[in-house]
This record gives sequence, C-alpha cells and structure tokens, in this order.
Amino acid sequence: MSHMSELQAELEKASGAYEEFASRGLKLDITRGKPANAQLDLSADLLNAVTGDDVMTPGGVDSRNYGGLDGIVELRELFSPLLKVPSDQLLAGGNASLTLMAQALTFALLHGTVADSRPWGQSPHKLICPVPGYDRHFTLAESLGFELLSIPMDSEGPVVAEAQRLAQDETVKGMWLVPMYSNPTGITITEKRARELAAMPAAAPDFTLLWDNAYGLHHLRDEHPEALDILSICAEAGHPERPWIFASTSKITHAGAGVSFFGAGPETSDWIRANLGKISIGPDKVNQLRHLRFFSDPAGVEEHMRQHAKIIAPKFDAVLNTLERELGGKGLAQWTQPNGGYFITLTTLEDTAERIVKLAAEAGVKLTPAGATHPYGVDPHNNVIRIAPTMPTVEDVELAAQGLVACVKLASYEKLLAG
Ligand code: PMP
Repeated sequence: MSHMSELQAELEKASGAYEEFASRGLKLDITRGKPANAQLDLSADLLNAVTGDDVMTPGGVDSRNYGGLDGIVELRELFSPLLKVPSDQLLAGGNASLTLMAQALTFALLHGTVADSRPWGQSPHKLICPVPGYDRHFTLAESLGFELLSIPMDSEGPVVAEAQRLAQDETVKGMWLVPMYSNPTGITITEKRARELAAMPAAAPDFTLLWDNAYGLHHLRDEHPEALDILSICAEAGHPERPWIFASTSKITHAGAGVSFFGAGPETSDWIRANLGKISIGPDKVNQLRHLRFFSDPAGVEEHMRQHAKIIAPKFDAVLNTLERELGGKGLAQWTQPNGGYFITLTTLEDTAERIVKLAAEAGVKLTPAGATHPYGVDPHNNVIRIAPTMPTVEDVELAAQGLVACVKLASYEKLLAG
C-alpha cells in the first residue's frame, strides 16, 4: 500500500471512530481547572470552624472587627514554612490571589516600586510571558496596558536566554511565572533555572519576577519537590526585591472562598502594606481564622493535600493512560506528565488545535479554546490544547479523553493527507 493510501485508510478509521463517539450524544467538559465537589467536601468543617461565641484569634484579636492589614499572624506563621516566606514578609489577604496580582501591578503602574519610583504606567510597559501559560495572567496584564512578550518553556522551566534578551529593554518590567506544576504544562522550574532568573541582568532596576505559586502544595505523587525559597535565592543573587510571591488556598479549601497570600522582600512587603492600606482597612479575618483552625499546623495542610491527590490523581492517570494507549508512538501528539497541579498540556501537529477543539465540541466534549494559553489568545503554531481533568468524575474524564483522542486522530490524518 502506498503511503497515501495508508493515510487514507487511517483517516477513514478515524472518521468512523469519531462518528461513533459523536453519536453517543455525550456532554462532557474538561475546560476549567476547578476542584470537583468531592474536593470541596474535604473542607466541609471549615464552614463551622468559627461560631458566634468563638471569634477570637489565639492572640486575642476579635476576628469580626476592623484592622490587621497583614492578615492574622498565626495564619501567616502557619503558611510561612509552606510558602518559604518569613511570616513578617507574608501578607494574608482576601479570597483571590488574582486580585492581589492586579493590585500589586496597579500600584506599580501608578506609584512605581521600591527600586524605581517612576510609575510604570508613565512609559510603555511590557511583561515577559512564558508560553504556554495561564490565560488570566495574560488578560489581566493586557487589560492594564502591558505589552505581552512570549518566550518558550522547556522541561526545566522558561528559557532564560530568551528572557535575558528581552530584559535588556528598560520597558520590560517583569515576567510571569508559575514555578510549580505550571498552568497548563505541569512543569516545575528547576532550582538551577530559578537561580539563573534570580541573577539575570535586566535593564529595569525593578525588574520583577511575578512568582505565582498557585500550585506549590498541589502534589499528585508521594515523592515531590518542595517549594523553592525564591526570596533567599534572589537575595543571594543580589536582587532581594525581585520576586513578588503569590499563592492562595483556592484549590486547597474552597475555590471561591479561600485565603490569598503575598510574599516579598523586606522593602516590597512594606511597599505593598503602604499601598494596600489606602484601599482597605483589612482582610476578612473571620475566614482566615476558619482556615487557621481547620488546618492547625503546616502538617495539617500537607495531609489535606494528600486527600486531594487521592481524588484527582486517578483522573490524571485516566487521561494519561488513554493518551498513551491511543496515541503512544504514533507521532501525532505529545503530552506532559504532570506530578501536580491541575492541567495536562497536549501538543498536536501544527495547525490542528483549533480543528480539534471544534470537532470535540461537536462531539460533546468541551475543551478550552485553542490559543487561550497564549498572549492575545493567539497560539502561533495552533497546536497547544489544555486538558483540565479535575472537575468531572473519573468515568467522565476517561470518556472525554477517548473523545479527545478520536478528534486528534481525525484532525491529524486530515492534515497529513492535505500535506
Ligand atoms: N494562578 C494560577 C496559575 C491559577 O491557575 C489560578 C486559578 N486557576 C489562579 C492564579 C487564581 O487563583 P485565585 O483563586 O487565588 O485568584
């Protein structure tokens, strides 16, 4: 059989499998990285952890009243070793770290930073974006007027030579980074790479690493890396104020009602305090007290994360096993093998991602729009698909993965035949 007729035969097989899948009329959704209900239920006792007659923090602060801009001290002490930020440089905030990112960036745009008092907003301002990355980082920065500059990632993290080349421009103010189990690749930056980023020369005196450790505690396997102490790493490299560290309990407790954190060098933590003090009298200490009582200590958080892993690891494995069984060795796609976080990245043949997402939608499987993982929603190779396996049941996620591979095969053989 000629190569073309072999491909034709594969296309017909793929087309039949796709039609068969579509005819089942399923309605599946692997778009957003939300926790499943069973994960939210793990934190059910959180809702009863503060009662009307028991509202004082261990230090004797009434959680119901105004004050305490930094958040309650005992919760900051609890998360300090987990996030590797000294507790007096760690602020506990409201329910969303994304809001803290927006606030910190807005303060820099309006008032400048500790290393440079010139407001970023007074001249062109740009951010480096490792891709694929988190869509909300990109849309937030774009909405604040930043120009977004893509750089590639490899298995150890962002490619530093590319970041360094861009950082020679003084209007490049910083770089997004999800250091652990990145959204959407699941890649964890190596310590070597982190040290290179910490030491990297940059023209802007206040070049900032937007170190979004959203998944720093979200391990899927028993053996796992620890969060890097990026503050010490940057201080040793002579840039103590370079990292702005963000985290939250959104995917630890309740995704709409957790606690966010901001950590930074000594001067930057004073800078954020001074700025936050103008827009808030203090965060929701009642919710912070609930979290403190619910966890008790750092080991309580770690044990809680193991319970999450028990629920979601089988879902990741269902997707990974299906990809391996159906696409392994075929040369049609590659995928990441995350050891934590919320996502798997599937890289398909060039120029097929949009077609796959469309085919999947028509067959009842909703996928994140192709391009969402790139600045301005444009994936130049049109070949990155983000898979979010946590929300559906194991059975549904397995079915969704089967539907997805049917679409990958169909779109790939169409493409190969078209030449
Ligand atoms: N950062 C990353 C990398 C995320 O994936 C998410 C949630 N999807 C967030 C931040 C949002 O966190 P929060 O709920 O604390 O705003």
